[in-house]
Amino acid sequence: MPTYKEALNVHEDYALNNDKEPSAIRLLMLHISGYSGADFLSHQDEPMDEAKYLKFRKMVDEYVIAHRPVQHITECETFYGYRFCVNHHVLIPRFETEELVGYLLDLSETYFTKTDTPLHLLDVGTGSGCLAITLALENPRIKAQATEISPAALDVAKRNADSLQADVLFHEGNLLDPVLGQTFDILVSNPPYIPNKEVLDPLVKDHEPHLALFGGEDGLDFYRAILKDAERILNPRYIIAFEHAYDKARELKKLCKKYLSDVCIIQKKDMQGKDRMTFVLKKG
Ligand code: GLN
Repeated sequence: MPTYKEALNVHEDYALNNDKEPSAIRLLMLHISGYSGADFLSHQDEPMDEAKYLKFRKMVDEYVIAHRPVQHITECETFYGYRFCVNHHVLIPRFETEELVGYLLDLSETYFTKTDTPLHLLDVGTGSGCLAITLALENPRIKAQATEISPAALDVAKRNADSLQADVLFHEGNLLDPVLGQTFDILVSNPPYIPNKEVLDPLVKDHEPHLALFGGEDGLDFYRAILKDAERILNPRYIIAFEHAYDKARELKKLCKKYLSDVCIIQKKDMQGKDRMTFVLKKG
């Protein structure tokens, strides 16, 4: 049997020769080996056992030949250092969304300074649960609830909350509907934001749920629907945090001003320099 390193090198080349990402092969190898990044280096010259090698080969072909996303093959993705289960019912958590979490954690600490009071947070369209679960785990003041229209996605989110031991209250239903009658300090959402007619990479279009991807003709339908009712479920002093498409910052700012008055709007770029996040702050 080849060593871990030999098997990795050969299959990274195999991916490259087929116009696929060698970094994906490394992820598959780490998954199969069961070692974390640093441990892998100290074991890489050991021979693989046959069962692991055969499983690795099979997974490589699912990626290179069958064009499945790596995260669907391993059934997991790391988000903000936590391991989330994913499948074809949920959007695979993205790096950009980790940045939304980071900014929102900082903002909520500086905006709600009475540190002994809970912060009631709502995640709208939670998918895998990555936003609500991570925010609840990272700040014990946060009492998180989340809504999701897809029962199959909600199932994934609940399993993730269980395995990560996060205390999140999940509701099945559309956008804000399940929580009308309650009030929150923070509303966070990464809603489906791709315009319906946009041409997508087949790796995304053929595998990730369209319900989680497409946001109407201009991609802004869900922001409109959320903003229209947002103040019904928000306390007088609040934060709204949205992720959005790189080319929609100006339009989204306009929408926020249309539906909300006396608010301060802060827009941030992601690590790739693309407009990606909008925060709305109301003094109350
Ligand atoms: N909130 C989830 C995420 O950030 C799901 C987003 C979605 O389905 N559009 O990954």
